[in-house]
Amino acid sequence: MRYAILSDIHGNLCALEAVLAEIRGLGVDKYLCLGDIVGYGAQPRECLEIIQGLSERTVAGNHDFAALGRIDIDNFNEHAKEATLWTRRNLREEDLDYLRNLPLVHHFDGFSIVHGTLYSPELFDYIQTSYDAFLSMSQLPGEVCFLGHSHIPVTFIQRRFITYSFEPEITVEPGTKVLVNVGSVGQPRDNNPNASYALFDTAARKVSVRRVAYDVDAAAASIREAGLPEILGERLKIGR
Ligand code: ZN
Repeated sequence: MRYAILSDIHGNLCALEAVLAEIRGLGVDKYLCLGDIVGYGAQPRECLEIIQGLSERTVAGNHDFAALGRIDIDNFNEHAKEATLWTRRNLREEDLDYLRNLPLVHHFDGFSIVHGTLYSPELFDYIQTSYDAFLSMSQLPGEVCFLGHSHIPVTFIQRRFITYSFEPEITVEPGTKVLVNVGSVGQPRDNNPNASYALFDTAARKVSVRRVAYDVDAAAASIREAGLPEILGERLKIGR
């Protein structure tokens, strides 16, 4: 089975369309989505419709929960807060219903998907250190977990010790546990403005994290025109 795994689309339709256009030529069997479909970007409804139609399994992110009023946005920065309030005003009841029914975690045979962490998915913590990775690996029934949330693609690998790698091609060796942060489609933050997503070939046990250039200026213009904070568009141009 070949999966395409998308995370943190954040209402950025330009980025999502570019990623899907690339994936269509790659012979993928199924799509998975790791949450934060909405928040920051100007086209949350369009992104939700696409993911709803395409994704085999989707888990909820903190911005999806924020749109539902399920988490307190007081600790969001001022632009994220403003974007959340804008998103709430611009989603329809059916969009909210879809978000409401998303689980936080899904376990497949051999691998799992979550937005933040496996040890407390409802807290939306970040996995930044080997110890953070260890805590999630101890809750991982299979070998691989795909996650998002930080918008920075990175892989943690547990052999004798836990190490991390920014290599885009990963082979899952038997007996190891691997956490793959697939990066963000709609708001990369690793100084690379190109949209990020992953492919997972379960038979070959290979993961590839791929980057796709898209029309960042058009995405920034739609954010400006929607009346969202302009900085949310400007940051897309530098991938921060
Ligand atoms: Zn996010």
